[in-house]
Amino acid sequence: MELTNLSVIRSLCEKYGFEFSKTLGQNFLVNAAIPPKIAEEAETDGKFVVEIGPGFGCLTKELCKRAKKVVAVEIDSSLIPVLNETLAEFGNLEIVNDDILSVDISALCEKHGEKSVDICANLPYYITTPIVMHLLESGAPVKSVTVMVQKELARRIVSTPGSSDYGAVTASVAYYTNPKHLFNVSAGSFYPAPKVDSAVIRLDVIPENERIPVKDKETFFKVIRSAFAMRRKTLVNNLSAGFNMEKTEAAEILSSLSIPVSVRGEALGNKDFARIADKILMRNG
Ligand code: SAM
Repeated sequence: MELTNLSVIRSLCEKYGFEFSKTLGQNFLVNAAIPPKIAEEAETDGKFVVEIGPGFGCLTKELCKRAKKVVAVEIDSSLIPVLNETLAEFGNLEIVNDDILSVDISALCEKHGEKSVDICANLPYYITTPIVMHLLESGAPVKSVTVMVQKELARRIVSTPGSSDYGAVTASVAYYTNPKHLFNVSAGSFYPAPKVDSAVIRLDVIPENERIPVKDKETFFKVIRSAFAMRRKTLVNNLSAGFNMEKTEAAEILSSLSIPVSVRGEALGNKDFARIADKILMRNG
């Protein structure tokens, strides 16, 4: 069954009475070249893979052909009977009807006796950043995340300090991973077609002992959030608002680290955010 073929999709919709839900971000791939390309780039051969949002299963199928075991997590219960039909041939697949944000990925690895997991998905766009951060913050042994996201978000995730796309999401993702833009996918490759183009990115997770050392992760992420809270303001202004401190104190912190007091958050990278966070902690401690 060619799961990216529009007439196959239409007849499955009719057979199961399935209706596309905008609120669940249901834009299915109808370009046959894309699912194998994503699966190849995810390098899932012989691995344990978790897929988020299988839909009718076009990407799941490509993952099952390559991976040792695939767990596909789908929130929409009306898709489960469809998946049971479209993916019936695969003995290495488990379909879980759940919200990915409620799934304990570590427990899933343990259940399957796996030390690590690779994530692959055409993500629902209404919830992309929370899903990515859930995966990275969970502490689960995630090795890589290869996902389709909106093109604009892809640009933000792979950008670097100083660029107009650089922001809190860039810095947060860069703390956990080395991100890479793989390829763009036009809106016409989906049904129904979304309003915007998409891109596939790959995030290779940095082992915990190789990440930028921070004394306290919470303070570090608070510095990042504060730094970009008001883009046009200087870092001194943003830190002062975010940490409820006098501007003179924020300026002293930057000066003591040889960071210009006139700097904006977008000019700094995670090493500097970590130094600032450690200094703020010392001041409090
Ligand atoms: N993988 C299919 C494809 O590429 O054609 C469908 C991708 S579609 C963009 C996103 C899928 O994620 C839908 O099947 C949707 O029901 C599912 N989904 C939405 N929110 C979810 C959540 N919180 N947890 C798990 N799946 C979710």
